[in-house]
Amino acid sequence: MSTSVPLIVRLLASSVSVAGRAGKIVRDVMSKGELGIVEKAKDDYQTEADRSAQRCIIASLSAQYPKINIIGEEDNPDNEGDVCSDWLTIDADKEVLRLECPSELQGIKEEDIVVWVDPLDGTSEYTQGFLEHVTVLIGISVNEKPVAGVIHQPYYKNVGSENKTGRTIWGLQEIGVGGFTPAPPPNSLIITTTRSHSNPVVEKALQVMNASQILRVGGAGFKVLQLLEGKASVYVFASPGCKKWDTCAPEAILSAAGGKLTDILGHNYKYGASEPRPNKTGVLAAVNADLHNYALNRIPQELKEKLANK
Ligand code: AMP
Ligand code: MG
Ligand code: MG
Repeated sequence: MSTSVPLIVRLLASSVSVAGRAGKIVRDVMSKGELGIVEKAKDDYQTEADRSAQRCIIASLSAQYPKINIIGEEDNPDNEGDVCSDWLTIDADKEVLRLECPSELQGIKEEDIVVWVDPLDGTSEYTQGFLEHVTVLIGISVNEKPVAGVIHQPYYKNVGSENKTGRTIWGLQEIGVGGFTPAPPPNSLIITTTRSHSNPVVEKALQVMNASQILRVGGAGFKVLQLLEGKASVYVFASPGCKKWDTCAPEAILSAAGGKLTDILGHNYKYGASEPRPNKTGVLAAVNADLHNYALNRIPQELKEKLANK
């Protein structure tokens, strides 16, 4: 790969390729049928697919970018061990390699970057057979801000080319989104939210939205895809359950498409390596600033305070 390509563009191109490789691991584990489910905490699961996909992504990226801090969801004792050569991917997506470098990111060094990896977002749905909800997330942050990201959907059915499974969507600050064409928002207010991690506070924040429809699906990645596809216009989750690896890639891509992702109080999360992992004050995302503002204003102050003081 030519080193004349700016660092952020090379890293995004590598991330697109390795996300596709990780997606194949996710499908292979499911086809073999030995999921190796571990309960990490209440309602929080890990499978062999989560573990293997993370090893593939971290080993592949750290071999090429040794000074980048890469943080993965899975606390995997054998993260540092040997990774089979079949999992080591040093390919880089050719279309992404041709992108212009955003002016703000021209001089950055590996040390300025933190990469947040969710090797399998939507594990509950994966174990329950809702495979379309599953995504692989690689988020790239520079000086605490998400600037680029990849959402790979391993089970997406490509209409018209049935032998090609999966799709990869990327976003880059100032440049835009690739891998598919975003659609305009629906005419009425459609909200997307959690399928498997609800509670009374989450439900209260949904009730006040006055939505025409509420979609309940798995994964932060899949919900942001629904926003980009025009299937929903706002994503509301008034709970501390999401982590930095859930929101970094989706936030970067949504922002590159003109949308906005914050916490329930309207504040941006920071993505530096020392930031706490949980997104304690929830997630509020919308396809544009007006809808984000609408949703933010509808959430009662006492609910905002409840999350902030937890
Ligand atoms: P969901 O919208 O429920 O599919 O959640 C999006 C992401 O946040 C997934 O990676 C979930 O595992 C994570 N998450 C949300 N709520 C919780 C929770 N209560 N416990 C553990 N993980 C959660
Ligand atoms: Mg996740
Ligand atoms: Mg995960």
